[in-house]
Amino acid sequence: MSTTFSSFIPPNRILMGPGPSDVYPQVLQALARPTIGHLDPKFVELMDEVKVLLQYAFQTKNALTMPISAPGSAGMEAVFVNLIEPGDKVIVCQNGVFGGRMQQNVERSGGVAITVQDEWGTQTDLNKLKEALDANPDTKAVAFVHAETSTGVLNDAQALCQLAKEYGCLTIVDAVTSLGGSELKVDKWQIDAIYSGTQKCLSCVPGLSPVSFSELAIEAIKARKSPVQSWFLDMDLVMGYWGKGAKRAYHHTAPVNSLYALHESLLILQQEGLEQSWARHQTNHLCLKAGLENLGLEFAVDEKYRLPQLNTVRIPEHVDDAEVRTKLLNNYNLEIGAGLGALAGKVWRIGLMGCASSQKNVDYCVNALTEVLK
Ligand SMILES: *Cc1c(COP(=O)(O)O)cnc(C)c1O
Repeated sequence: MSTTFSSFIPPNRILMGPGPSDVYPQVLQALARPTIGHLDPKFVELMDEVKVLLQYAFQTKNALTMPISAPGSAGMEAVFVNLIEPGDKVIVCQNGVFGGRMQQNVERSGGVAITVQDEWGTQTDLNKLKEALDANPDTKAVAFVHAETSTGVLNDAQALCQLAKEYGCLTIVDAVTSLGGSELKVDKWQIDAIYSGTQKCLSCVPGLSPVSFSELAIEAIKARKSPVQSWFLDMDLVMGYWGKGAKRAYHHTAPVNSLYALHESLLILQQEGLEQSWARHQTNHLCLKAGLENLGLEFAVDEKYRLPQLNTVRIPEHVDDAEVRTKLLNNYNLEIGAGLGALAGKVWRIGLMGCASSQKNVDYCVNALTEVLK
């Protein structure tokens, strides 16, 4: 075995899977700028700007809006460990992999999870949520995934939140894949706690999780009878580090360069405009749809609630799933996603997220698939 190693030079891939997506070149440049101290006044200014830019991306005035220094799964965990105390009842809507992880987070926080199950590839049924709410009047929160990356389904976040609010519940939303790619309005839709990721429609590097908590959510955290079991994710402590104005207390060392990168990607989003970004994801989705259907491929998800940034298509019979994906990767430098869980081997998941959502990528992917499927 060789013991001499050299620098790692990654291949130039085109990332059209479920994430990470292609990163903007400007974001990679920002990442390479000199590291400064995380309590340097200049860095504190950057942190404040990141918060404002995230408020725009989430469409919220929530003061507690910031990135957790870890990937989307840590944002998920932050929301549950802070809001859920032992014995709390939470209704978790499940129609894919990530709803299942929410349930595990509720249970590991000592809460009681009531699940509303819908088939993978379909939307969460509002009537089923209503039944669960009627049957469990002591429910504290309703949790669901906005964009189910495992299936390609967009859940009706506005309607789900409205229903949960009629029953006086807190609303918890996974927006890891929706932020920047699908319409999302935290304040207008009355979302109390939300988490996202940087490596999907923001086209930033992986490893950060933007979160936002409403006043109501903060009240619930302040009213806790027991301290948050996680030290690192305790929002009360994190707030002392990310809080506005007040002198910042050292909590952990922020991932300084990653935050340069997030700042840059949020600037790009602001310059394009949120609505324009949502519209671009939809336009490129329609182009990809036309190209894939031309090839005889069928979507696995009903048109009414299909995600534009994650296209789930059925693998044709007699086609070898792994062989096609390997050829795309080796011969075309193109990554598409495999099916997850119950859909493994049955579907491909083709991402059009962030800057990877372009006409150029759509054409490239359709041409590559045409060649490989020949
Ligand atoms: C990717 C994803 C996550 C997890 O994010 P990580 O950054 O991989 O931890 C959670 N929820 C959804 C819907 C996702 O697509």
